[in-house]
Amino acid sequence: MKKKIVILGAGISGLAAAYFLHKENYDITVLEKKSEVGGSMESAWESGFLFDRGPNSGLETTPLIRILVEDLGLQDQLMYASKEGNKRYILRGNKLHPLPMNPPAFIKTKLFSAKAKLRLFAEPLMGKSNDGYYESIAEFVTRRLGKEFLDYAINPFVAGVYAGNPEELSVKSAFPKLYALEEEYGGLIVGTIKSIKKRKQRAEKSKQDAQMFSFKDGMQALPKAIANNLGGKIITSAEVKSIYKNGECYSVVFYKDGIEQRIDCDIILSTIPAYAASNLFKNFDEELSKHLSKIYYPPVLALFLGYKKSDIRQPLDGFGFLIPSKEKKSFLGAIWSSVIFPNRATGDEAAFTLFVGGSRNPEIENTDKEVLIKKVIDEFQQLMKINSKPSFEAHKFWQKAIPQYNIGYIEHENYFDKFEEKFSGIILGGNYRGGISVGDCIKNSKTLVNKIKNLCR
Ligand SMILES: Cc1cc2nc3c(=O)[nH]c(=O)nc-3n(C[C@H](O)[C@H](O)[C@H](O)COP(=O)(O)OP(=O)(O)OC[C@H]3O[C@@H](n4cnc5c(N)ncnc54)[C@H](O)[C@@H]3O)c2cc1C
Repeated sequence: MKKKIVILGAGISGLAAAYFLHKENYDITVLEKKSEVGGSMESAWESGFLFDRGPNSGLETTPLIRILVEDLGLQDQLMYASKEGNKRYILRGNKLHPLPMNPPAFIKTKLFSAKAKLRLFAEPLMGKSNDGYYESIAEFVTRRLGKEFLDYAINPFVAGVYAGNPEELSVKSAFPKLYALEEEYGGLIVGTIKSIKKRKQRAEKSKQDAQMFSFKDGMQALPKAIANNLGGKIITSAEVKSIYKNGECYSVVFYKDGIEQRIDCDIILSTIPAYAASNLFKNFDEELSKHLSKIYYPPVLALFLGYKKSDIRQPLDGFGFLIPSKEKKSFLGAIWSSVIFPNRATGDEAAFTLFVGGSRNPEIENTDKEVLIKKVIDEFQQLMKINSKPSFEAHKFWQKAIPQYNIGYIEHENYFDKFEEKFSGIILGGNYRGGISVGDCIKNSKTLVNKIKNLCR
């Protein structure tokens, strides 16, 4: 008898796992609350602009991405970032400074003071952390590289990746590879050199080396293609309301078109966000529910702006820019979307995606969005030397955007392992376990698939 598997959530975590299981003929059903698949991956065309409301791109950090693209026949749709996309700017003193990418550029840059540059020589001499799970990325970087690196490299970087606060994110939980350089090799500089050699022997690429990709119709093209492949195995507009043990099986209760329905199954793979899973598992395991409810998802507003290229005096030759907290602006940074993927706007226009809020400014949740957006546009136009109004404007407010792997996150992770042992047949996945990036979610889908295969043996 084939085991029946129900997957909760049709974001990339749930869909990638569903895809690999379906390929091997496992009996799956995916339940998704929204009318469309993709979760955070939402793409839309409007007035000649293509904008992504969630991830704007992914990094090809795992060969699984290529496998999915080729299996699904998406090769014609796949786009790699333009060469200009490698150049990133950081704001300092109201000026955009290119992030130095090699030693000569580092020596010349005005982004860091001479004192901060000299401080790097001391990095190999710094001692190791006692426990990276309880050290923040801010403490880690200050200890190893000095305060200026925290303020003008890591602080904006953390805003760009997690929309997070470096004082709160755990270095080992949120940046395990960075932490491993210290743990395994004793330091970041020595570790980087040695790990490059090691990585060359493996198929996996580091985030710095991996190519940035998207699709002609935006990031949502990938989940949509997986959903087409799965056909009738996905039920959308189906909100899962409860789960309970039913003899040897589990029952999953959901609402579809206002009507309560139930599926009995042997295995449940939950990939819905932690806060949603917290409600769902409340009557099932109170301790799990508590752990899940403590995972913080700050609000983020994604703002899309289009301008005539001729109205922009800042040269458009990069990925965009990030803003350190010290610079005291109302937004976190801007992606120059049509520089990276030129089809994001028609020929004489340029498209931008700005991010506002995050753990740095969670108060945006209760701020008048119109007033906030106006302020952000004013600041953006000053920095980009634009004198006209945007020719296109749209936004999406994510009330709960990205899970923060904060200090002590390991306690949640340990409990998730314990829970899976206690309730054999229930597996917890999604971006609050094993990484938040699209690449990490796809990579982790294999771990989820392997856990399910073990249960089916
Ligand atoms: C604004 C923003 C920008 C980002 N930028 C990038 C980027 O540039 N690059 C990058 O790599 N990553 C980026 N990320 C992160 C990345 O997009 C996400 O971590 C990833 O897409 C999460 O996928 P997931 O499947 O784990 O979760 P989700 O995408 O959240 O999917 C979970 C699904 O579960 C469904 N669901 C919830 N409750 C229920 C229920 N009760 N019943 C049924 N279904 C339910 C939801 O509707 C959703 O579809 C960004 C995220 C955001 C929000």
